[in-house]
Amino acid sequence: MKNLYPLNVILLFIAQWLMFNVQCSMVYAQDEPVDIDEWQVMKVAAARDPFAHGNQFTINFANYTVEEWCYPLPGAKLLSPFGGERHHGGTDIKTFAGDTTRAAFPGEVILSGTQYGYGYCVVLRHANGLETLYSHHSRNLVKVGQWLHAGDPIGIEGRTGRATTDHLHFETRVKGKAFDSERIFDHQNRTLRRQVFIVTRQKNGSLIFTSEEVK
Ligand SMILES: [Zn+2]
Repeated sequence: MKNLYPLNVILLFIAQWLMFNVQCSMVYAQDEPVDIDEWQVMKVAAARDPFAHGNQFTINFANYTVEEWCYPLPGAKLLSPFGGERHHGGTDIKTFAGDTTRAAFPGEVILSGTQYGYGYCVVLRHANGLETLYSHHSRNLVKVGQWLHAGDPIGIEGRTGRATTDHLHFETRVKGKAFDSERIFDHQNRTLRRQVFIVTRQKNGSLIFTSEEVK
């Protein structure tokens, strides 16, 4: 009796099935929008918890050297601050379309893709416990898993997502919760605030940000 499925036909099936799976995963990696909040719950919790040793952590920005920080868009003007009537979740800063956005602190790329509203967007996780988000890029220049120095290029300033003009929507976050980046950066002078920055987690989970000036 003749074999219904000779070995070469079976192997061809297996090869096609594998190709199909590879194609699916490639499409997912490039095009599928990633939910930032979902990501943050999963990965930040799994990888590094700034509250692992208690309900408070501090960052001493007074000791930061020039290698340890960078204004995220050198030369930028403040366009729109955090909060206000429209509950703005970040700080809008602007130079010109095509300028390069830069990593605020050393860290790992934990998201690089497109996200509804944000357009082309990059999220970095820093060893100091903060996360920073950069969005409305016309193009992202980094990949997930890449480790960056402060000042490394991460994207090209653009207007993808919900943006009416080319600018950078910049966010500082702790475990996915955005807070006013003005607490960290003096956006008028584009400098890091030389302070001890204290993040306290309350019993209900909400975060309190305080700082102590260092003379
Ligand atoms: Zn914005």
